[in-house]
Amino acid sequence: MIYDLHTHSTASDGAYTPAILVRHAYEAGVTHLALTDHDCTDGLVEAQAEASQCGLTLIPAVEISTTWHGKSVHIVGLRIDPDNPELKRGLARLQTQRVSRAEEMGRNLAKKGIVGSFEAARELAGLGMITRTHFAKFLANQGLAASVRAVFDHYLVQGKPGYVHTEWAGLEEAVGWIKNAGGVAVVAHPQRYKLTGSWLRRLLTEFKASGGEALEVVAGTSNLGDIQSSASAARRHELLASVGSDFHSPEHSWLKLGHLPELPGDLTPVWSLWND
Ligand code: AMP
Ligand code: MN
Ligand code: MN
Ligand code: MN
Repeated sequence: MIYDLHTHSTASDGAYTPAILVRHAYEAGVTHLALTDHDCTDGLVEAQAEASQCGLTLIPAVEISTTWHGKSVHIVGLRIDPDNPELKRGLARLQTQRVSRAEEMGRNLAKKGIVGSFEAARELAGLGMITRTHFAKFLANQGLAASVRAVFDHYLVQGKPGYVHTEWAGLEEAVGWIKNAGGVAVVAHPQRYKLTGSWLRRLLTEFKASGGEALEVVAGTSNLGDIQSSASAARRHELLASVGSDFHSPEHSWLKLGHLPELPGDLTPVWSLWND
């Protein structure tokens, strides 16, 4: 069994359509794949159709943007019912916020002489969620920085001209939507938030008190030290352990679908909750 429980498609900021993503995951040996688009479940129907063709188990999922003490924290919901009305209402609100944030990003960048970024990002996003990744692509295409990574650092992170603070869902609220939809809530990529030890303990304590059950111990960009420290956090807070590449695109070749380090053997994997 090879699990990859965190991936993106063109329904948000991934490069592959849901069907192509599933096909690549299958070819990479993944047996259980979660499609976790940002604030959106629109890719799941297409992904499920392809998964049925391949004989891969698709786990319906989502990655919800939350704001916790002013910081952006991502909560993955695994095995959700995408038709659950409360979840749908919640995601619809975040989708509206994504559009108004993008319009404001476009206006702010225009003040710096960069015109047309909202329209270009909208076009790049197609029918999917509009994200900072789409702005980054446009800015990189304009030659404004050497790489997408550099574009983020110079334009799209806190304190830079294209950054717009957004109050996404509350932590407890997002966990509530996931649970209401029958899913399991997972704190995604804990290293990404650059929290001190005491803030991470606080996050995981509040997350667990809200009904959250798992921590992404093996995340796409984690090194051995990250895995060990997340494993300790999972033990300390008695959280189940998840693994996910956070695959977006083949250009990020260090995040290969399904090619993830193993979970430390004493942890309980999140899939122990499931029968298949
Ligand atoms: P958003 O949810 O619209 O704020 O966009 C966040 C997305 O941007 C993340 O899911 C990543 O895919 C991408 N991202 C964030 N920071 C960086 C970075 N420093 N370099 C490349 N991609 C990034
Ligand atoms: Mn992303
Ligand atoms: Mn994320
Ligand atoms: Mn992600």
